[in-house]
Amino acid sequence: MFRTGLLAALAVSLTAQAAPAPAPAPADTIYRNGYLYTVDARDSVQQALAVRGGRIVYVGDNDGAKAYAGKRTDTIDLQGRMLMPGLIDGHLHPQSGGSRLLNCSLNYESLTVAQFQSRIQACLDQDKKSGPERWMIVVNWFQQGMRPEGVATTAAMLDALKTERPIIVRSSFGHSALLNSKGIKTAKITRDTPNPAGGSITRDAQGNATGLLEDAAQDLAMNLLPPLTVAENLSASKAALAAMRQQGITSFLDAYTDPETMTAFATLQKQGKLTARAHFAVLIDLDKGATPHSAVAELLKQQKQFDQGPTRVAPSMQVRHAKLFMDGVIAAPALTGAMLAPYLTNQGTQEKPNWQPGPHNGPPSYFSPAALRATLTELARAKIDPHIHVDGDRAVRETLDAIEELRATPEGKRVRPALAHDEIVDPADYPRFAKLDVTPVLSFQWAKPAPDTVEALKDYLGPQRYAVVEPQALLLNAGARIAYGSDWPVDPLDEWFALKVGVTRTAAPNAGQAYAGKLTAQPGMPRAEVLRAITLNAAYTLRQEQDTGSLEVGKLADMIVLDRNFFTIPEEDIANIKVLETVVGGKIVYRAKDMR
Ligand SMILES: [Zn+2]
Repeated sequence: MFRTGLLAALAVSLTAQAAPAPAPAPADTIYRNGYLYTVDARDSVQQALAVRGGRIVYVGDNDGAKAYAGKRTDTIDLQGRMLMPGLIDGHLHPQSGGSRLLNCSLNYESLTVAQFQSRIQACLDQDKKSGPERWMIVVNWFQQGMRPEGVATTAAMLDALKTERPIIVRSSFGHSALLNSKGIKTAKITRDTPNPAGGSITRDAQGNATGLLEDAAQDLAMNLLPPLTVAENLSASKAALAAMRQQGITSFLDAYTDPETMTAFATLQKQGKLTARAHFAVLIDLDKGATPHSAVAELLKQQKQFDQGPTRVAPSMQVRHAKLFMDGVIAAPALTGAMLAPYLTNQGTQEKPNWQPGPHNGPPSYFSPAALRATLTELARAKIDPHIHVDGDRAVRETLDAIEELRATPEGKRVRPALAHDEIVDPADYPRFAKLDVTPVLSFQWAKPAPDTVEALKDYLGPQRYAVVEPQALLLNAGARIAYGSDWPVDPLDEWFALKVGVTRTAAPNAGQAYAGKLTAQPGMPRAEVLRAITLNAAYTLRQEQDTGSLEVGKLADMIVLDRNFFTIPEEDIANIKVLETVVGGKIVYRAKDMR
């Protein structure tokens, strides 16, 4: 699929023998007249770029690019448009994202109970063929956004629907699921069912399950769902890649993979349909008798089966990461983030609230300090980088402690640990990210006033901690290398909205008066830093920064053309940026209608 320009290259090398100053071999493509934002060490802006064999051979002004023009060179006049490195999403879930595009979806909307019910009833009515035992799976439920605020979400809401079927409604952030009574029965959950490690069954005053399952307790129902078929897996991967290339994503990390997902991506790769460089993190879970050694051995087995070797021009698959969960999420009603100090509870009334420290500070971390240290050491020996879910400040603290010890060992010096989410970090720990060379992987779009911050965090954390939630600029200013990860499908895949929030810390203009203004008094991140986070810094977490993440000679031609200039438009307009063209390894994988 690549124009090799072999003959042209030969011709040039022949004439080169006679000519004193050899002209460079002609490029396959020249982009000129652009606002070429490079993300090089000086964030320099250039005019033109030339690509040959999938790599960048020239970056500079228009005049200098002329030397690369040959008979078969395709020259593109950017007419002043912005060209930048392709986006690198350092944490997302392509398979659940892709399959949710194909599921009964509540679309992340804030819903009243009546709306919630009628949307699910519509899905049930549409699916007449399924029998009374077939699970109805509902996704993208914005649990914290239910109206009115604080409304109890129980099986009764679903029992009111006209169906015999078991129903599971999965929250968009992935930490809770709601079942109807048929679902509770099908999952064989009774008063006597104990809470599994790392999860809880929400119960009423009599000890009966309310239908709401938190974290690992979701598996009581999830394990009963029929797995995606091979064909469904393929459709999900295809849908995910289509969504990604439209956003301008040219590399990504699947932050919690499985063999079925990698099989689907491998099939697409063989067919030449892999349109982004795909990285996969395999879960390390010490439940069910696994030891750090056996869990890492299993990871290496999957690596052997699916990893396709070093980065090359055409997109391929790499399995170089492990995923670990240290806690759940700090947002109410889950409150499963591991915190240093207790969550607050309302000891007053709705009208006269009185928020005081409550009885708990989240679950014990999902890895004990000893287990975490042993696991990190095994991973370092196996040359696997850990990608660790940490949401509460205690999870962050304990993980940094373990990494500090790891860094003191010979094998621990070369690992590149990434700490995903970091929604709340104790200020004493900010400088440790730079000191220990740990990359926070952040979802910028969370740093806005919204039901899952204003209502689900504020009162439960209290003013002091709430003032430092989503500490993006605070970590940046403490010297951390910030990388971006969307965590799709926790939110819709909208990288440009996320980058906007990274700069402004404001919600969308139509979010309503309750969510106007900035999230807390913290500053946003500078625009250049926001772009670096989703390009070069994310490339670093994938060990791909020598090949991608910036537009520099010798790097792969992974890049995107935008419909407007990220740096000159008003801040709020960043959310409206559209990608006109996505190029991976010099090959165009997406083009909007209005390009050229
Ligand atoms: Zn995630």
